[in-house]
Amino acid sequence: MGEWYDEGLRFECTGCGDCCRGEPGYVWVSPNEVERMAGSLGMSVDDFAAKCLRRAGKRLSLLEKPNGDCILWESGEGCTVYPARPEQCRTFPFWPENIRSRAAWQRVAERCPGIGRGRLYDKDEIDQLAGLV
Ligand code: SF4
Repeated sequence: MGEWYDEGLRFECTGCGDCCRGEPGYVWVSPNEVERMAGSLGMSVDDFAAKCLRRAGKRLSLLEKPNGDCILWESGEGCTVYPARPEQCRTFPFWPENIRSRAAWQRVAERCPGIGRGRLYDKDEIDQLAGLV
C-alpha cells in the first residue's frame, strides 16, 4: 500500500533550534553516543553524565535546563555537540509518529520552519530515517 509521502518530503534545517528548546522531553542516548558527545566536548564520560544525563528506567536521556532548553544548547552558538549529536536529533523530523499521517506532519511543520523547504527526501530515505525498514 502506498504511503501519503510516496512522492517524498522536503526538509532543510534552518538551525532555528526550536526543536531543541523550550519544551521538556526525552532525548534518548546510547552509551556510544554519550562517549562521542563527551569526547567532542573534551569531557570525561563521568563528568558528562553528571552534568548532562538523567536515567529513566533502563535508558539514558539528555537533561534540560530549567527553561526547557536542551542542556547542550547555547544561545548564540546552537547545539554544542552538533557533529556528535545523537541519532534522535539526527533523524528529526522523520520520526515514526511525525510521518504517520499528513496531519501529524503538518502539526510538526507548525513548529519546524525547515519542513517544506530545501531538499526532497524520497520515500526510501524517509522510511530509513524513521527506522521503518
Ligand atoms: S525546528 Fe526544524 S528548522 Fe528549527 S532547528 Fe529544529 S529541525 Fe531545524
